[in-house]
Amino acid sequence: MIAEVIVDIAHSDVDKIFDYACDDTLKAGMRVAVPFGRSAATGFVMRVKEETSVPKDKLKKVFRAEEDFPALTEECLSLAKKISERYRCPLALSLRLFLPAEMRTGKVGEVYQGFADLTGKDVSLSPRAIQQIALLAYLKENGETESCILRDKFGAAAFRSLIEKGGIVEEKRRRFRDPYRQVAGEKTEHILTPAQRTAVASIRNSQEAVTLLHGVTGSGKTEIYLTMIAEELRAGRSAIFLVPEISLTPQMLSQLRARFGRSAAILHSGLSAGERFDEWMRLREGDAKIAIGARSAVFAPVENIGVIIIDEEHDGSYSSESSPRYNTFDVALLRAKRNGCKLILGSATPSVETYMKAKNGEYHLVKLTNRINARPMPDVNIVDMRREVRRGNPSPFSRMLKEKLERCLEGGNQAILFLNRRGYSQTVICRDCGYVAKCENCDVSLTYHSEENCLKCHYCGAKYHMLPACPECGGTHIRYVGTGTQKIEGELKSLYPSARILRMDNDTTNGKEGHYKILKQFSERKADILVGTQMVAKGHDFPAVTLVGILDADMSLHFSDYRSGERTFQLVTQVAGRSGRAEEKGEVVLQTFDPDNYILRFATQYDYEGFYEHEIAMRAATMFPPFAKIVRVMVSGGNEKETLSALKEVYDRLNGVYREHSESFLIFNKMHAPIKYIKNSFRYQVLMRLTDASVLKEIYAACAEVKPKNVLVWVEENPANLS
Ligand code: ADP
Ligand code: ZN
Repeated sequence: MIAEVIVDIAHSDVDKIFDYACDDTLKAGMRVAVPFGRSAATGFVMRVKEETSVPKDKLKKVFRAEEDFPALTEECLSLAKKISERYRCPLALSLRLFLPAEMRTGKVGEVYQGFADLTGKDVSLSPRAIQQIALLAYLKENGETESCILRDKFGAAAFRSLIEKGGIVEEKRRRFRDPYRQVAGEKTEHILTPAQRTAVASIRNSQEAVTLLHGVTGSGKTEIYLTMIAEELRAGRSAIFLVPEISLTPQMLSQLRARFGRSAAILHSGLSAGERFDEWMRLREGDAKIAIGARSAVFAPVENIGVIIIDEEHDGSYSSESSPRYNTFDVALLRAKRNGCKLILGSATPSVETYMKAKNGEYHLVKLTNRINARPMPDVNIVDMRREVRRGNPSPFSRMLKEKLERCLEGGNQAILFLNRRGYSQTVICRDCGYVAKCENCDVSLTYHSEENCLKCHYCGAKYHMLPACPECGGTHIRYVGTGTQKIEGELKSLYPSARILRMDNDTTNGKEGHYKILKQFSERKADILVGTQMVAKGHDFPAVTLVGILDADMSLHFSDYRSGERTFQLVTQVAGRSGRAEEKGEVVLQTFDPDNYILRFATQYDYEGFYEHEIAMRAATMFPPFAKIVRVMVSGGNEKETLSALKEVYDRLNGVYREHSESFLIFNKMHAPIKYIKNSFRYQVLMRLTDASVLKEIYAACAEVKPKNVLVWVEENPANLS
């Protein structure tokens, strides 16, 4: 037999099929070790066939199969091909997406656990062998037992001796590591409300593959997902459930574990290598049928998929930030079509692109307009911070926020305060000369962190000593501008000395369970106030939270990005949605320097439709997505000269595409990226806006032809971040 093999080397020069002789136990999808050049390589069997055009004396043989089963299913192989065609990347790269990294690096193996039982054979024991006698008696009473327990109870010597005499026998069995054992919570299963039932039926009966479930915060979307997953499971099918940031949703995880037990496997970068590998194996072997995780779980090795869910579909984390820069939705749709199953996108604040497709009838649209039990949406109070300042209140807390916070704490309830910035203050400025402290590796300003009394770069993590004086002019009038989470936490502590305060941002959530610990403490009401960045806005369900304060609603409005309005609307709606989710009505205080801003107005009235109509009209008028596609080709390298010469080559090739299809381009130019260097790498970009996405193919092709040394070139489509 002949195996068509792709070697696991991500380079375009070897990105082709190589034929090898093999025996007939080899199957498509298996990983193999093959001779390659003068050494060996691992590879993927794409196909097994009878004949080859390679002459007999040139044909090499597969050394061995790495596993005795195909790590990649037929579906994975075909998807990987589509992904590498679409994003113009070597097939080896897209095949890797489907495997846990641990499998390729061979760093984790399976864990085996011994079990011992009586053999039935009589062994003659001296009456003094008390431990051995006791061990046999124990097994007689308890039956098969884990070897480690027996060794613990009766000693390793007695255990070994009985094995040698043949009185007991040990069998090693595969043991799966169980991440999130500790999170399994109580099982909550609700009887669906009529609105939820109608939604489920409507999704099931629709003709379209894709459904947008647009339900306000607290409308019970999660219960709908779980119901649909449970039904598919009962019918013997599997499911994929994607969430933006899995460590931020411990409540969701505990619900899933409680409800589906070990049928749910969690794929998450925060797991240990061994855990991740085991969860993947359980899915591959069909022991687990529900794959839950962030975007990479879309590649889960499940077969016969009954439903795919993308929760919080508007979230930026669904586009990959390393090559291939796949779009999670595109991959999910391919899988849904191949499996003939439904793809559900859920959100309280769908992206404008998605909503337009739903309105045009391309996606089925299901709406949930009320919260569960008709709980009211929280009232949003806008505070004009300009007036606060004029009235002599320079603090980050308006008088209204302070009043409501006091009342909330007195009533024994909890509050969430949200702001967009980590650290103590935003930037460090010299008042005499205007010098701003910047990172040496990155073209960004530094942030003061008072706990460590240092300046940190939020891009590369570098730390600097706090400046005693301005390095430019020697002046000592160093000022902090702006407010970060850490500073707010400090001010709250002095305002409310008896309140228990938790902070959640990138600085407090280190480690595998950083988020989990903070959220758990808060949900167990071991704290009164939770201060944090975007992380506090995600789908949490804390019943005792009755007040949400948005300290700087304008922050995200001023990013120079076509999506900044949309993002602000989403953020405000999502944070506000954390308030008043149980019996007591919730409130929101939104502080802004721009109180008449239409985005904030729509958000405070929960008027998604109004926001959408306004936003889509503006996008149409200015020709931004979804009416055009923004494409950015990034060129980045450590050496400026090399980077510039690669940029020139990329630009020349793209210019060829541009000249040939200029009618498809609204914008075509090359420039420095807004942040000129990050982590000591220079960053240049060619920015394009396309009216016709069919030229994308040629853009990818042009970039794939440039193979500069030491410089990375990549393509971003409608990038979530244009910095
Ligand atoms: P969403 O995901 O839409 O924001 P959730 O799924 O978190 O909303 O539901 C909000 C709250 O309502 C949760 O506390 C959930 O347990 C509860 N809930 C959901 N469905 C029902 C139901 N059918 N009956 C009673 N409570 C429900
Ligand atoms: Zn830096």
